[in-house]
Amino acid sequence: MTHDGRNDVLRPFPDQRHDHDACRSEALAQVVAACAERGLRLTPLRRRVLELIWSSHTPVKAYDLLDRLRREHAAAAPPTVYRALEFLVEQGFIHRIESLNAYIGCSEPEQAHQGQFLICDSCGDAAELSDPDIAAVLRRKAEMLGFQLDVCTVELKGRCARCETAAG
Ligand SMILES: [Zn+2]
Ligand SMILES: [Zn+2]
Ligand SMILES: [Zn+2]
Repeated sequence: MTHDGRNDVLRPFPDQRHDHDACRSEALAQVVAACAERGLRLTPLRRRVLELIWSSHTPVKAYDLLDRLRREHAAAAPPTVYRALEFLVEQGFIHRIESLNAYIGCSEPEQAHQGQFLICDSCGDAAELSDPDIAAVLRRKAEMLGFQLDVCTVELKGRCARCETAAG
């Protein structure tokens, strides 16, 4: 089956006119709705972790998150924060970027997907694709090698169009 690729971009790089306040509010509203629908509790800590992760399009490092939260909440011990992160990852509200030990918010938490992430080395922003063709090819190749694929996340490094233009 082929598809036209229009719906593969879950989260583009933000452009100059990008209204991030609106973008973040929309993402948080989606999570609140998904939690209500799935009967999950969005505790104040889970919500705060999510807000911090959505503060920009740059993946947030786990230790920066721990630092910020320790200053805000005396109760935000690392295991508690990691449990909140685990919950958010499991529900598809955020993704972990393994190569950076960092997290970014997902714009499409309603549907389960294995993402491909484009990470800008210059500004640090990340974009997310979810192209089922890419995932299918990797799955097929893994099968050929008798490899049991558990995680099919792809992380690409380079420069976003904005940084590439600024450099040129
Ligand atoms: Zn945004
Ligand atoms: Zn996603
Ligand atoms: Zn960039």
